[in-house]
Amino acid sequence: MIEQPYVYRRAELVEPDWRRFPGWTDVTEAEWESAQWQRAHCVKNLRQLRTVLGSHVAEAFYADLERDQAELATMSMLVPPQMLNTMVPGLPPEDRAFTDALYADPVRRYMLPVFSDRRADWPSHPYSSRDSLHEAEMWAVEGLTHRYPTKVLAEVLPTCPQYCGHCTRMDLVGNPTPVVDKLKFSMARDDRLAAMIGYLRANPGVRDVVVSGGDVANLPWPRLEAFVADLMTIDSIRDIRLASKALMGLPQYWLTDEVRAGMERLAVTARERDISLAIHTHVNAAQSVTPLVAKAAKAMLATGIRDVRNQGVLLRGVNNSAEALLDLCFALLDEAKIMPYYFYLCDMIPNAEHWRLGLFEAQQLQHQIMGYLPGFATPRLLCDVPYVGKRWVHQVSRYDTELGISYWTKNYRTAVDAGDELALSREFEYYDPIYLLPESGQQWWQARTAGSASAPAPGQVPVLSA
Ligand code: SF4
Repeated sequence: MIEQPYVYRRAELVEPDWRRFPGWTDVTEAEWESAQWQRAHCVKNLRQLRTVLGSHVAEAFYADLERDQAELATMSMLVPPQMLNTMVPGLPPEDRAFTDALYADPVRRYMLPVFSDRRADWPSHPYSSRDSLHEAEMWAVEGLTHRYPTKVLAEVLPTCPQYCGHCTRMDLVGNPTPVVDKLKFSMARDDRLAAMIGYLRANPGVRDVVVSGGDVANLPWPRLEAFVADLMTIDSIRDIRLASKALMGLPQYWLTDEVRAGMERLAVTARERDISLAIHTHVNAAQSVTPLVAKAAKAMLATGIRDVRNQGVLLRGVNNSAEALLDLCFALLDEAKIMPYYFYLCDMIPNAEHWRLGLFEAQQLQHQIMGYLPGFATPRLLCDVPYVGKRWVHQVSRYDTELGISYWTKNYRTAVDAGDELALSREFEYYDPIYLLPESGQQWWQARTAGSASAPAPGQVPVLSA
């Protein structure tokens, strides 16, 4: 047997026993599998978390979490029981090792971030920003981002069944937190959706619509079905992708009779019109792929849609090793029939430096995962470059590793640089976390930010308002 850096082994999926948590000892299987029960028992605050996990978890952990919510969190707390149950799957809270395991848990690290997780020296990159991808600047109509020539992103609503600490749309999505007010749509929902359909009818150059948010699982099903059905009446639309992390976070929703029957109707129409209808989900850790998640993904495929694909985010402490990524991809592909598709570098939002990887780390990871998965299921690791769009991590044009600045070019114009003659020859910048740089690079950034009014100094927490 040749020794390999990664050893493939098929791992059977497991639904951790939720009854190990004091707050759920009496919860029946029927309740657990009910989407309504899951939504009604989401953990939204510290008090509810204590009720579920009980008094065995160290007080210091709860205090750490409370401080983060008050001082740094850009997303409010919202964790469905399904997701909470995948944290520390093998241990009950009364086990002496539970608190340490909770601190180290990959799902906890991004769903329940604590103050001590964050960087004290550089909590934010000086060039981090609320809408770091400038999506709102590229709205053709409110909530419809037209960044690429043939593709649009339709943000149909600003809420999700779960809130991820690293959410790239922290500007818009979710409830305000003590440090972040949220941008509000000004138009009524149905007027916005109608305006999106109107824009797409008038712009036949667009063939591909990502229907997102937020998470489409929070739009009442009849409204989502009507919107997708409207999209399918537009001759130019050939690809429709429904974005839902809830396929993993709340698979019970995608298993309801209403949703399964509705997806079947949409899949029939899509096939009749030669449109590719797919679901894109967002899974970051192998332990999140449970039997219920696999069941929901397979139920969606059984409706006749084209595919279920995964777009994860590279996060330190969650999946920043080849082993973690490959374990996740094999769980998705082999057990849930979900296609590994992309992993993004975490975007340059405030207070995210502890999660973000340097470009060089993503390049190493891309190299390390090649050759194990089938080519069609080998995910591409991406940098979403502000004002450019998605680039494979090896597409970088120049890279100054001392200052952590990578330079990127693009081959199309976005809405905001339509009149810019240099847009296709210009270089656009992306930044590595400063604490990863050599000493000389860190000093350069310290000197640069020292007297700047626009950029926070090291250790300073930006206060963010809409
Ligand atoms: S599910 Fe997606 S949109 Fe919703 S909070 Fe998580 S990352 Fe943001």
